[in-house]
Amino acid sequence: MQSNDILIVDDTPANLHALSAILRDEYAVRCVTSGKAVLRAAQADPPALILLDIRMPGMDGYEVCQRLKSESSTRDIPIIFISALDSTEDKVKAFEAGGVDYITKPFQEAEVLARVKTHLTLRQLQVNLERLVRQRTQELEQAYERLGQLDRSKADFINVMAHELRTPLTVVKGYAQLLGNVPVSPQSELRALVDGIANGAARMHEIVNDMLDMARIDAETLLPSSDALCLSSLGERLLTEFGPAVQERRLTLSVALNGLAVHADPDLLYKAFYHLVINAIKYTPDGGRVTVSGRAVPDEGQVEIVVADTGIGIAPEFHELIFVKFYQTGQVAFHSSGRIKFKGGGPGLGLAIVRGVVLAHGGKIWVESEGHDEQRCPGSRFYVRLPADGQAGAASRQS
Ligand code: ADP
Repeated sequence: MQSNDILIVDDTPANLHALSAILRDEYAVRCVTSGKAVLRAAQADPPALILLDIRMPGMDGYEVCQRLKSESSTRDIPIIFISALDSTEDKVKAFEAGGVDYITKPFQEAEVLARVKTHLTLRQLQVNLERLVRQRTQELEQAYERLGQLDRSKADFINVMAHELRTPLTVVKGYAQLLGNVPVSPQSELRALVDGIANGAARMHEIVNDMLDMARIDAETLLPSSDALCLSSLGERLLTEFGPAVQERRLTLSVALNGLAVHADPDLLYKAFYHLVINAIKYTPDGGRVTVSGRAVPDEGQVEIVVADTGIGIAPEFHELIFVKFYQTGQVAFHSSGRIKFKGGGPGLGLAIVRGVVLAHGGKIWVESEGHDEQRCPGSRFYVRLPADGQAGAASRQS
């Protein structure tokens, strides 16, 4: 397409001459006298603009315009209709057919030149804009691809490191256990030292396992089994696991999962709720309450489980971001990594793992919280939806 190439279509030679005379000083002008000829000419070598007569024998201007607009190679050519008629109805019809403008006979030279120039400029701007958008889209795609590669290398690195760390950690844990079995006098400080090593190694093992879970979620190799699972057993495990922690932090942990059952992988589901409950404990001040409750959502064939706390809450702008791996709302400089310490942040993998597990089960997860306020403590509620199972169990207890 040349930017100054104009195709004029009119079955009356006098009109073609008049328009050519107006335009030929500034533009390269081609003339044709029928609808069929313009379709051939426009497809063979698309012009920058077409001046198209409405009334022509055979195929009229409206039909020519519609046909040009239905072909990808000619769709974007601006079409200005020309006619002796000056009725509003004809103008509306011309725009409906896809024309950009309308000029009437007898031609006013200045008007023809002005309209042609305006539409050629608009078309050129549109072409430039489209080129820019294409170029930017390509750059974005390349940047996105590079980011993807970086993310994959990061995931590979984490995976390898986690595997490398697991072996020496198992050795440390094993020796700590052996040392723990050595009889020592009650006054000896050795017992406390050995317990310290064992606890530290257990915490590191937990983090390494989280890293491996995350790597599996990233690689989409987390394939949950789909057992019929009574949530009562999940509730029991949570109460047993967190009994000592809630006692230490003077919290109340209630589990109310009456008669609910889901299709899920018991170990993966436990991992997900382990992270939700430990977060609820970590972000709730001493003396607060953590509740795990559930209800059936029969219309959607799902069970909804809610982990609610009376903690510091989460600002709405973080409700999506906290599920992204390594994301933490607090400042990393103030990071402390106690397992159950108030506001003791972890490596930022917990919620990403929870989301990965829930999605791998075909479920949904979201959080509701009024906002973050460490004085008022508005609390947070994490909602998990999972596919329901017809069978039901029961659990309702307090710790
Ligand atoms: P972390 O290892 O830092 O706990 P998570 O992925 O488990 O990472 O959580 C991400 C962030 O979400 C946390 O740093 C915390 O700011 C916020 N968060 C998670 N759970 C809660 C909660 N129950 N109450 C308040 N904030 C929470």
